[in-house]
Amino acid sequence: MKRELKFQREADGAWAGKFAALPGCERIASCTQCGSCSAACPLSIYMDVTPRRLIALVRSGFRSEAIQSRSIWLCTSCYACVSACPQKINVADLMFALKREAIETRTYPRRFAVPVLSDEFMSMVRTRGRSSDFWLAARMTLRSNPAALLGMISTGWRLWRTGRLRLNMEPIHRLAEFQRASAPRKEAA
Ligand code: SF4
Ligand code: SF4
Repeated sequence: MKRELKFQREADGAWAGKFAALPGCERIASCTQCGSCSAACPLSIYMDVTPRRLIALVRSGFRSEAIQSRSIWLCTSCYACVSACPQKINVADLMFALKREAIETRTYPRRFAVPVLSDEFMSMVRTRGRSSDFWLAARMTLRSNPAALLGMISTGWRLWRTGRLRLNMEPIHRLAEFQRASAPRKEAA
């Protein structure tokens, strides 16, 4: 992500307030920007925005920079940042919350495999109640790197011939009940 000067008028304070009320994000106001989370994070050297900086962006209301960051997709939920934080801020849960919003609003980078995988997985589970390795890999590759599908054909063919690949994906029993139970809760007005 390009580093650039930010102006307060570009911030969305209402979004920041709403976000800070989400489970796991309640304590972000107490962040002292000490950087212990970034130092503990094994992935921070690959991130475009470090965990410390992400916290600063979120609580100041710079929504698009936070949501469009690749860092949220690199996070492996190892919770090293949470153990290191002297303010007991749940940085990993904040990453989850940003990921959820990025998927819901489809604001992730196009053809970036990790969010595409999450999106396809969630879509399969919502419509069938389960996922299929074959269809998950095929759909993810089609959306993120279609040219790679050609290289997968011979492996897929061999797996199918030996009965190790199931193409059909039957829905689970009592799918409607599952969908009702797993539907996102509507916020109270
Ligand atoms: S370790 Fe905690 S207090 Fe320090 S920058 Fe990270 S979130 Fe903020
Ligand atoms: S949970 Fe995510 S952000 Fe925290 S240390 Fe692990 S990879 Fe880094």
